[in-house]
Amino acid sequence: MYNVVIIGSGCAGLTAAIYAARANLKPLVIDGYEPGGQLSLTTMVENFPGFPEGILGPELIENMRKQAQKFGTEFKAGLVDEVDFSTRPFKVIAGKDIYESKTVIVAAGASARMLGLESERLLLGHGVSTCATCDGFFFRGKPIAVVGGGDTAMEEANFLSRYATKVYLIHRRNEFRASKIMLDRVRANEKIEFVMPAVVEEILTPSKGTVEGVRLRNPESNETAELAVDGVFVAIGHDPNTTAFRGKIETDSNGYLLSHHGSKTIVPGVFVAGDVQDHRYRQAVTAAGSGCMAAMDAEKFLEEHHMD
Ligand code: NAP
Repeated sequence: MYNVVIIGSGCAGLTAAIYAARANLKPLVIDGYEPGGQLSLTTMVENFPGFPEGILGPELIENMRKQAQKFGTEFKAGLVDEVDFSTRPFKVIAGKDIYESKTVIVAAGASARMLGLESERLLLGHGVSTCATCDGFFFRGKPIAVVGGGDTAMEEANFLSRYATKVYLIHRRNEFRASKIMLDRVRANEKIEFVMPAVVEEILTPSKGTVEGVRLRNPESNETAELAVDGVFVAIGHDPNTTAFRGKIETDSNGYLLSHHGSKTIVPGVFVAGDVQDHRYRQAVTAAGSGCMAAMDAEKFLEEHHMD
């Protein structure tokens, strides 16, 4: 029986673990299928306070993990596919493993959105990627495309321009969601060319098992054209990882988990933190902050219910 089971090992989950472990609650963190969360898939983080020179995302997350371990956090690999929040102790089920806990912190994060094309599915890992940090190196000296018009797309396009001969930034509209500073950096980058408005209709050529280009359609004129590239980076946002929690915790219209009065949910003893409940800020520092709140709320709950 655990005091606190934390679902997710990104910035929010690990911060919750640091706080819970330092409160002597001996938390268990269940890693999830993207250990380290989105920080482990990013490059330089320049806006996490305390690192004036910036810090690499994977290094930052590794530091947090070590810090959580140092104070007594237990880690288990696994993907939570079911939870039972109907009675206490709660049950958290990951494959064949069932964990019982007095409180649960859901910090399951959000996952990369895909275009939904069959060709994208077939070529994922064979020239199609959602992670510039992981795969950028493979496209050294080659032309590539980045799809999206938000900060993620800008960040990835800039990063990939280190390796690629040319980066085509494909966006479906003429306006951007990206912040001005990120957009300005991309505009100043001579290796990056904007292709817009353009919708990716197909990634070529699945039958050859490799990316040779994209077929694009201009949504205004309906004209189509092919663009030769060796890689496609899909950078169109994220979806919260809430499958296991549907019907158990309230969600908003976008499917993000809802919290009340800090990190509390409608189930007393279940708390939420990080991107799984935040479609607005989605920053490492806000995820960390909400992880801290969830751990403090869990600690208070245990204390109030004389369960500590
Ligand atoms: P986002 O802001 O939601 O942008 C997603 C982009 O993908 C939009 O331009 C959207 O187009 C496009 N898109 C979505 N579905 C698409 C589809 N099916 N086909 C084609 N295009 C599609 O997501 P994000 O860029 O991942 O950013 C998420 C949050 O993280 C933001 O708050 C952002 O500021 C933050 N972030 C910050 C940093 C940083 O500061 N270093 C880095 C990365 C992300 P439409 O505009 O037409 O909808």
